[in-house]
Amino acid sequence: MTLLAPAKAVGTKAVLGRHVLAFVAGAPQVLRDTWVVTEGDTIVDITPHRPTQVDEVHDRPHQFIIPGMMNLHNHCFSEGVARTHCEDGGGRRAGASIIYTVLMPLTRIGADILTSDERMAVARLGILQLLKGGATTVMEPFRATIPEMFDAAMEMGIRFYGAPYLFSADMPVGNSDGTIDYQASDTNPMRDLEIWQNLHDLWEGKDNGRIRLAMSPHATDTCDPDFLRHITDHARNLGVPSTIHAAQSVGEMETIARRYGGRTPIEYLDWLGVMDRDMSVAHCIRATDADLALMAARDTTILNCPRVFARSGTVASYARLRSHGVRTVVAADGYNMDLLAEVNAAALISKITTGDARQATSPELANAVTLHAAEALRRDDLGRIAIGAKADLTVLDFSHPHLQPMHDPLRAMVWLANRANIGMVMVDGRVLIKNGMACDLDEAAVVNAGASAIHKIWDLPEARDALTG
Ligand SMILES: [Zn+2]
Repeated sequence: MTLLAPAKAVGTKAVLGRHVLAFVAGAPQVLRDTWVVTEGDTIVDITPHRPTQVDEVHDRPHQFIIPGMMNLHNHCFSEGVARTHCEDGGGRRAGASIIYTVLMPLTRIGADILTSDERMAVARLGILQLLKGGATTVMEPFRATIPEMFDAAMEMGIRFYGAPYLFSADMPVGNSDGTIDYQASDTNPMRDLEIWQNLHDLWEGKDNGRIRLAMSPHATDTCDPDFLRHITDHARNLGVPSTIHAAQSVGEMETIARRYGGRTPIEYLDWLGVMDRDMSVAHCIRATDADLALMAARDTTILNCPRVFARSGTVASYARLRSHGVRTVVAADGYNMDLLAEVNAAALISKITTGDARQATSPELANAVTLHAAEALRRDDLGRIAIGAKADLTVLDFSHPHLQPMHDPLRAMVWLANRANIGMVMVDGRVLIKNGMACDLDEAAVVNAGASAIHKIWDLPEARDALTG
């Protein structure tokens, strides 16, 4: 297996935007008819004047250049496996979340029965979707038994925060009262940490800092107090961000309340002292108003994934989470891996739930997949188009008939554009997607190999049982 990154970006490139979402005087601002010039992995100029003597020019008409979009919560593997099995109520038993009946068990089994090449194929399929959807950065929690996620990210050029899971116990067992408990399968928490550390030693900072790690305790109900404290201390010592799932299902709320003196999952994390500026918490849809106020006080980030919940008839309202002042970013949770569709859903759901069209505006939602996501990771060199920032760009092609005439590009991005309108994607100065297609990659081969590997999981009787109960 090759571990080679794409060739390092050298020389200068100039990209012409009819509109450019640039970072000007401390805030994003849309500029007209502007060139973004890169040299190597860095943005070196933002100018109305056509640059002379650049090595490469990308000057298609009607381009809207935005900072590379960041998807800070994604699962290439589990959602790739679940695709078209779990919509329309598929896999839900007695109204319970499919997390425990389908996603966790099948990912665990799948990682075990697939060969390394097959796991790599699933990883490549996911990253290809992310890139074609316009994401330049992904934070990806995954089972540590799928280390190929790192190899695929290295090879395909995406900016990657790999987050191999750590568990105290990972085998869900339903109780007669409807709550869920966990048994340790062959999981040993300290061995999970050892595996995580080995991956950190191998990958952290690879390819000019493009490949990084995040500490990734799976969830509040699968990680015990001492273990959560221990690994969070470890993350702080190493200076890596942390991410966890919390307040994502009724079962989890009941389990944590029963185990820990009536606490909510958010109160549980705060009680342990692990909720801080460097923690990003996925979902929080069951968080109380007091929980959200607490998260705002701790400067913690919420990872809001509206569509995966909408799929099961559950509201995950960006406007509600944001209204308490918590830094809230929008991510895909692996579901379709399409950030433009995700910000559109965030807008729709927010406006419906508040009954107020002025909530969750387009500029705010654009920030939720760029500037604010970068802030969550303490990266002032990402999520903005500014001189000295990383040359990570997403270019939308507004030449399509449904995007003309163009009055307000941010509204068009959130309300009208879709992933088929992603023209170009650049990471670290490398053009990975051009004219909507992956560069130097046989897309059909990636798709076929990934799909074949996933079919192998569904050929197992236990996979079909997980779905039908
Ligand atoms: Zn998740």
